[in-house]
Amino acid sequence: MHSPIQTYLEDLHGRVAGLNSGELASYIPELTKADPNWFGICLVTMDGVAYSVGDCGQLFTIQSISKPFVYATALADQGRDFVLGKVGVEPSGDAFNSISLNPQTGAPMNPMINAGAIATASLVAGEDPEAQWRRIETSMSAFVGHEVGVDESVYRSESEPGFRNRAIAWMLKNFGIIEGEPRASLENYFRQCSVLVDCRDLAFMAATLANGGVHPVTGVRALPSEHVERVLSVMATCGMYDYAGSWLYEVGMPAKSGVGGGIIAVLPGRFGIGIFSPRLDAKGNSVRGIEVCKRLSRDFGLHVFSRSGSPGMALSRVYTGADAPSRRQPGLEMRACLNAQAHRIKYLCLHGFLAVDGVEYIIRRMQDMAADSHSFILDMNQVAGLSESAARLLNQARLGFARDDIAVVFSRIHERHAIMDPLSKSAGEGDRGFLSFEDNDLAVEWCENRLYGDVSRSMAAVGSLTESPLFAGMPETLMEQVEAVITRQSFAAGQPILVTGQAGDGRIFFIESGQVSILVPLQSGGHQRIASLGPGMNFGEMALLGQTTRSASVHADTEVKCWILDTGDFDRLSEHAPLLKIALLENLAKDMASKLRRATQWIGALA
Ligand code: GLN
Repeated sequence: MHSPIQTYLEDLHGRVAGLNSGELASYIPELTKADPNWFGICLVTMDGVAYSVGDCGQLFTIQSISKPFVYATALADQGRDFVLGKVGVEPSGDAFNSISLNPQTGAPMNPMINAGAIATASLVAGEDPEAQWRRIETSMSAFVGHEVGVDESVYRSESEPGFRNRAIAWMLKNFGIIEGEPRASLENYFRQCSVLVDCRDLAFMAATLANGGVHPVTGVRALPSEHVERVLSVMATCGMYDYAGSWLYEVGMPAKSGVGGGIIAVLPGRFGIGIFSPRLDAKGNSVRGIEVCKRLSRDFGLHVFSRSGSPGMALSRVYTGADAPSRRQPGLEMRACLNAQAHRIKYLCLHGFLAVDGVEYIIRRMQDMAADSHSFILDMNQVAGLSESAARLLNQARLGFARDDIAVVFSRIHERHAIMDPLSKSAGEGDRGFLSFEDNDLAVEWCENRLYGDVSRSMAAVGSLTESPLFAGMPETLMEQVEAVITRQSFAAGQPILVTGQAGDGRIFFIESGQVSILVPLQSGGHQRIASLGPGMNFGEMALLGQTTRSASVHADTEVKCWILDTGDFDRLSEHAPLLKIALLENLAKDMASKLRRATQWIGALA
């Protein structure tokens, strides 16, 4: 199937290609060599897929689009406060080459106009201008995703007659904004403007900003995340110079243009966009580039201020421990308790990236359910990550519920740093931390134990075989005969008792004390636990029905004591006492029916 996004972009390219107004930049003589008809559009997703249309492989000089990236580098190297002391963040409303300096301090109004960018170039780390240039080059390469080079002829063509920029640099020196040699910083600025990119490179640079500073394909962090918002803010307010207000009004994405004909637009967390078409309007912005962004924004609702999603989407489903009990088979007493109470265990399936609005909604729903709840299991499987403030609120809610004796536990967050890190960081003092489980089954089992109150009660050894449901209602005389042939065996914790595929030896096990897990092998090599059994319960009973190979493995979770009945012995007994076999098979049928009912219920809860 041809991607509808690709089709849309091709169609958009076709429609906008008809726009032939605007002129090539001519104040840098080399730029007039561009073909005015070059036109490329590229959109990159957060998982690194690039949709490209038109001249996306055509190289051109990045020009002013370098400014946000060198500003980013200065922030990373010198920190926010130092950089703010040198270059402001107020839109000037002036042209890109205006000499907009703060009348008191001489600081340029913002880093997106030339004055601010020349000052910024002097701020990046490096003991001399060459080292500073190497720093600029590697930093820009990290945003692009491969090494970048410079178009030397464009560089010379700008540097030789660059009187205006030269004047700006000397003004900055005069005010002490540039501390070193202004000519060297200016040359680095000219070089950064002459870095060669294609439209695809631009889209990846934009996508790296959209992705919180990490390149979506190489995975390399090009910028510490705390600076990303700062860079995007100046792009949003100053990136389009004296067109910035109209741009925000009509397109609504942080953006940056260059006189080479490029434009980048960033939709945080969603897309990076690069456009290349060298015909410029009077303000120095690509005519087709602006038109493409306007249409993209309108057609796809990409304005940053447009409402995206709804907090309710953070919670996809709620169900209870009655709908989906643990796979353990509880003893009779515990089963009775769970039958009456398991609905007080609530599973909440959370979804997406959790920010404050989504978490507010989730907490409110938990409060609504609190009166009828004993524990909440927050299933994080579908959660991509959460903000620190969201994590803090969730932790506060967890502590608040704990004071009302309602437990809040997390499921499926293991080794998932985007979730674990903000949760651990915000756990707060005096907080003993949150409980998390590898899967929902372990989580609900913990909640069931808590609900049942006294775990040891459910784990208490049974006194005799008559307590097993398989022998329910068995006359005492028959029971005595069974007990005469029964053997006993102990297993250490962790010891395998039965192994899948093993030839059956006809033994049926009744647990006297301890706990076992029933495991089925997975194709991936691991095991899935399908049930855990405790005192009074049995396994291996399929031998009674003539099953010859074991269909699951059974492991001792704790030290386990079992009574073992051999089917051969049993068959011999029942030759003289057919009632024994009838009663046992009837109990077995009842037991299987109840297991089947639970399995069906589980499947229903998963649907
Ligand atoms: N190198 C160009 C200049 O300094 C960059 C201007 C731009 O792209 N708007 O004039």
